[in-house]
Amino acid sequence: MALVVQKFGGSSVANPRLIKRVAARVVAQKKRGDDVVVVVSAIGDTTDDLIQLSRQITKNPLEREMDMLISTGEQVTIALLAMAIHQLGVEAISFTGAQVGILTDSSYTKAKILDIHSKRIEEELKKGRIVIVAGFQGMTLNQDITTLGRGGSDLTAVALAKVLRAKICEIYTDVDGVYTADPRIEKRARKLDRVSYDEMLELASLGAQVMQGRSMEVAKKFEVPLHIRSSFSNRPGTMIMKEVKAMEDIVVSGVTVNKAEAKVTLRGVPDRPGVAAKIFKEIAASNVNIDMIIQNVSRTGTTDVSFTVPQGDLRKTLEISRRVARKIGAEQVTYADDIAKVSVVGVGMRSHSGIAAKMFAALAAKRINIEMISTSEIKISCVIQRRFAERALRAVHQAFGLHALKG
Ligand code: ASP
Ligand code: MG
Repeated sequence: MALVVQKFGGSSVANPRLIKRVAARVVAQKKRGDDVVVVVSAIGDTTDDLIQLSRQITKNPLEREMDMLISTGEQVTIALLAMAIHQLGVEAISFTGAQVGILTDSSYTKAKILDIHSKRIEEELKKGRIVIVAGFQGMTLNQDITTLGRGGSDLTAVALAKVLRAKICEIYTDVDGVYTADPRIEKRARKLDRVSYDEMLELASLGAQVMQGRSMEVAKKFEVPLHIRSSFSNRPGTMIMKEVKAMEDIVVSGVTVNKAEAKVTLRGVPDRPGVAAKIFKEIAASNVNIDMIIQNVSRTGTTDVSFTVPQGDLRKTLEISRRVARKIGAEQVTYADDIAKVSVVGVGMRSHSGIAAKMFAALAAKRINIEMISTSEIKISCVIQRRFAERALRAVHQAFGLHALKG
């Protein structure tokens, strides 16, 4: 029998009426003859609310206690969904991450999944039950509760789909699928019928907000077939799959903007071997993910090094950077948190040239200055002033003709 993993995000289970709708959809899938494992997020904005609650106690909670707190949101949803399915006369059973053996390391608030002991799930499926699993959470070997980073229910779903060898992992959300740009910013954005793993990985890590970045890494690595679709309709959404030749005809498939990063600059860094290693080693040791890095050409024996980090990690990064700066004899550390990163993504870039020039020209035409640039084989990103973010996205979307894209 085939197995389907269905994941429902916070907006899809935002209230009892919606939870009942999810129950009906899950039951319908089960009645079609599939085994069904359901992963759910916390209701609506529960996770944000819980974080807010903690802020009223302390600005600096222990991360272990943070996970104890924010993992509770999902536990509410699994129980309610199980009840809703029972109301429809179908057997279902809910589990926390720990109960179904989702083992993680102990990097609280962004734990990595080490292993999943799926035996319990398989037993329950064999009994004909629908299995409901709380997303976003796991447990360390010491039985401490961890969470998998914001949006981590996606990771739970993808990882379960992998270990259970699901035929499809359906990600139900409040949009119809993956768009060429955020439709709230660009009204003319088009839904994409299919996107390659590589593109989706880039889009997710760029802040497209449809899928958690890390979940896409796992999906790509294990080629977990994904279908991102709306929980409010039956229309097909976007399939995430291995790259096929025809995808290359589309040079750019998406434009994103990320306003959640900050830029840190070490000025007057002595230009000698090992300095960069020192800076970034210390930052990496504190679990901060660095995104772009730029080092200028040195002219006077010193150079400037700039890099971007998630805004939430700015304070920590500045502390470390100042310490390292003193150690290596750098002049000063400055930062900017009013930046935005605009990116274009497309596997077609591998076989087409002139993409960067076209993007820069589109920004120039709107008189938007580019502060940093980084590229990968299928992506070009520019850091600009945050106040130009929306304007930049629309300009680039237009320049690549994405409003007229088919499929
Ligand atoms: N509830 C968690 C969050 O808001 C996990 C998720 O929704 O995927 O980040
Ligand atoms: Mg999400």
